[in-house]
Amino acid sequence: MKRKINFNAGPAILPEEVLKHAAEAVIEYNNSGLSILEISHRGKAFDNIIQESCELISELCGLNNDHTVLWMHGGGRLQFSMIPMNFLAQNGSAGYIDSGHWAEEALEYATYYGDVQILASSKEHTYNRLPQWPEHISKDLAYLHYTTNNTIYGTQYKNVPDCKVPLIADMSSDIFSCKRDYASYAMFYAAAQKNIGPAGCAVAVIRKDMLQRVVRDLPPMLRYQAHAEQGSVLNTPPVFAIYASLLMLRWTKAKGIAAIEKENNQKAELLYSEVERNSLFHANVKRKEDRSTMNVCFTAKNKDDESAFLNFCEMQNIIGIKGHRSAGGFRVSIYNAMPLKDVQKLVSVMQEYEKD
Ligand SMILES: *Cc1c(COP(=O)(O)O)cnc(C)c1O
Repeated sequence: MKRKINFNAGPAILPEEVLKHAAEAVIEYNNSGLSILEISHRGKAFDNIIQESCELISELCGLNNDHTVLWMHGGGRLQFSMIPMNFLAQNGSAGYIDSGHWAEEALEYATYYGDVQILASSKEHTYNRLPQWPEHISKDLAYLHYTTNNTIYGTQYKNVPDCKVPLIADMSSDIFSCKRDYASYAMFYAAAQKNIGPAGCAVAVIRKDMLQRVVRDLPPMLRYQAHAEQGSVLNTPPVFAIYASLLMLRWTKAKGIAAIEKENNQKAELLYSEVERNSLFHANVKRKEDRSTMNVCFTAKNKDDESAFLNFCEMQNIIGIKGHRSAGGFRVSIYNAMPLKDVQKLVSVMQEYEKD
């Protein structure tokens, strides 16, 4: 098979070795005489998969025993729902930073459960920059929620912001992409389909004291505490998706977050400098310090170049660079698994296109 150069935003590229191992396990898992698709979620084999994957997440994030790592269902959006269900009382308030599409969707979900205060927003700038972090954060807020990487608009908070209330972060599109003080979060979570593995599961990491703060009666499936007590197997989890994620976590650990971060910076710099150099394009995010290392968004100066450049790329086996429908233009997603050489290839294709 000739693999395409896949800049899709998510589900996204996975390393070939991860795909090979996952494919082998579909035929037979670990000499068990069974496919990974057939094993019990209550058996020893899957126990080991859950345990190793949770330990790897904890290790990669530099956590100690204060946090619990959970495998969850429902991607990012179920977390948008469960966070206010668990932590925002009907007469309480939660703070949200509105830095893009996903941040806004997360805060809309919270309005079903309690009062939502938008502490900062860059909506009026069509999210082409990060909103200024609020100076005054009321101590009465149940929590403050923000999105570390704005997948659609290509902005990213690299440092952990100052916050005196429980800080909750959606890291769906940049978890493990850089060193971060992960232990300082009350909770962080990520849908799997960008830097963790295939779609179908999500990771939620919660500081244990938060589990005692649940504000309403909830059925077990929607209560974090119940998932923690059951070791992420409250019901039948997506066994294969979690196994494939474990393979990706092993890959991540073997490379190391420091090396991954270095390469992510190289890839991003290479691409942003070409976007700025190339006479046909301009970068959507002008403030360099706000630019994402995961999603590079740019626009053609001449509208006609939009579909022509997409076609030109496709002829060179490059796919997935069309911008999200709400942002337009181009978005090149260069998650952890994207090799530098593929970004170099795209850069040379941009140069050829300019010459033509
Ligand atoms: C992709 C993404 C999500 C995804 O949510 P799903 O419900 O799993 O589709 C959420 N948040 C961010 C920041 C994302 O990039």
